[in-house]
Amino acid sequence: MNYDVSIARCESYDPQAVKNALIAALEPINGLDWVTPGMKIAVKANLMMQVKPEKAASVHPQVAVALCELLVERGANVVVGDSPGGPFAAGYLASIYSSTGMRAVTQTGAALNEDFSYIEVSNPDSVAAKEFQITNYLVEADAIIDLCKLKTHGLMAFTGACKNLFGAIPGMRKSEYHYRYPTHELFSNMLVDVCEWCKPRLSIADGVLAMEGNGPSGGTPRLMGAIMASYNPHALDLAAAHLMNMGIDDVPTLRAAYERGLIPQDVSELNAIGDLESFVIPDFKLTPKHDVKLWGSKNPAIAKVLSMLFASSPRIDLNRCVGCGECKTVCPAHAITVNDRRAKIDTAKCIRCFCCQEFCPKGIIRVHRPLPARLIDKMS
Ligand code: SF4
Ligand code: SF4
Repeated sequence: MNYDVSIARCESYDPQAVKNALIAALEPINGLDWVTPGMKIAVKANLMMQVKPEKAASVHPQVAVALCELLVERGANVVVGDSPGGPFAAGYLASIYSSTGMRAVTQTGAALNEDFSYIEVSNPDSVAAKEFQITNYLVEADAIIDLCKLKTHGLMAFTGACKNLFGAIPGMRKSEYHYRYPTHELFSNMLVDVCEWCKPRLSIADGVLAMEGNGPSGGTPRLMGAIMASYNPHALDLAAAHLMNMGIDDVPTLRAAYERGLIPQDVSELNAIGDLESFVIPDFKLTPKHDVKLWGSKNPAIAKVLSMLFASSPRIDLNRCVGCGECKTVCPAHAITVNDRRAKIDTAKCIRCFCCQEFCPKGIIRVHRPLPARLIDKMS
């Protein structure tokens, strides 16, 4: 298993600074030596939603531009794409390419994905997701580069390289997966299954401006100053989560990857290239914890009581709600209604997937941790 993770400092999105840092991160691991002329490379960028680059919810276009320039210089045919939470369709993606600034990659000779087909996949070797759908532009590529953003995440605590590949699943189909994989353990194993099926040839993280607090969309940009690269997406995530003071006990996808032998238990066992410790942000703000084991109790009556007492749930700041209905659209449990420009959650129907928190364009849905759970957190 390759545990090399390279990190380079980049304090801004100045084009030359980004390109220099990307080269500095890639060179020690010979990051692009495998790229040959004519190779079809799909760059799976985290584009998240219709959001400006300065919000730090999506990969900054300058990082994608620098990567595409390096790939095109080597003669590769590059397509950049994503399938965020809305429909996987031309109109929706066109607006996301524009709002995230990602159209800039076309000036390098790369293309934006315009293929909105997908295929069904069976994988008996998966731990959780034996069957799933994958967007075709990734399937048809000779190699996938996983270009992720470093952020907190309401459901999974942290999103980096592994979680980014959930965007390989087409559009609204992703909502169904919260029902198919209803516990953190199953959901995180599904994410690792999809990541392992995609087998990104290389993973790169935009951690120049990371997101802290109410991530992955409603949090606050925080200067981390890092561009990271690794052949192992889980090793990259272990190192990146460390910069936010998290480890395998805090991030379910890291736990799942560790249990499969894809990463070591501790960040100190990685082969970090660059001064990883100098990038750690001691007061990085996280989303509230979830108590995974209590929420996942097999006895329905006990689970219900325990979840009322201990499980985190979404809370809307109604004074700031504009009634756009995005939360209602993405809610797989149909637990949200919108009346008089105010959204309301039916807590009895809510399955606590936090899709609403993830996709609210105003960032006004928060992860609420009940008092008993917060008290236990303080004691532990
Ligand atoms: S997505 Fe956010 S702003 Fe829009 S209706 Fe829901 S809570 Fe309100
Ligand atoms: S209300 Fe939010 S957290 Fe609850 S099921 Fe709907 S999208 Fe998921």
